[in-house]
Amino acid sequence: MRQEPFVVPGKLVVPYRYFVGRLASKALIALRDDKKVMGVRCPTCNLTYMPPRSTCGRCFSKLEELVEVGDKGTVLTYTVVYHKEPVHPMEPPFVYGLIKLDGADTALPHFIGEVEPEKVSIGMKVQAVFKDKREGNILDIKYFKPQ
Ligand SMILES: [Zn+2]
Repeated sequence: MRQEPFVVPGKLVVPYRYFVGRLASKALIALRDDKKVMGVRCPTCNLTYMPPRSTCGRCFSKLEELVEVGDKGTVLTYTVVYHKEPVHPMEPPFVYGLIKLDGADTALPHFIGEVEPEKVSIGMKVQAVFKDKREGNILDIKYFKPQ
């Protein structure tokens, strides 16, 4: 006799705290307190990662040198979100993109605001808009707006 699978839907809510690491702590404190966007530079490859990471993805060197990458950058790609989800920090439609900050070699996923979604384009120059009350996370940048 074939048994039909019986599925029970459920939902877990798990509050948690974690240590972001020594480098990311410094970077997030600089973002919160001074509106400085920091990356980390590889001394071997000379690549600058933003978001910061502790190991170079290319040569596996240990990364320790924080450098300011600035608050301006370029849209590498983007998508327009029309579907509403409870985890989204804003109402759709909104634009989610990959931003390469001017002083970085990697891209930061973030929101693009103060522009109609159909006017966003690859290669668009953008600038960070900071929240007034910052808490020490990447959403202290509210979004990036066209320069
Ligand atoms: Zn490297």
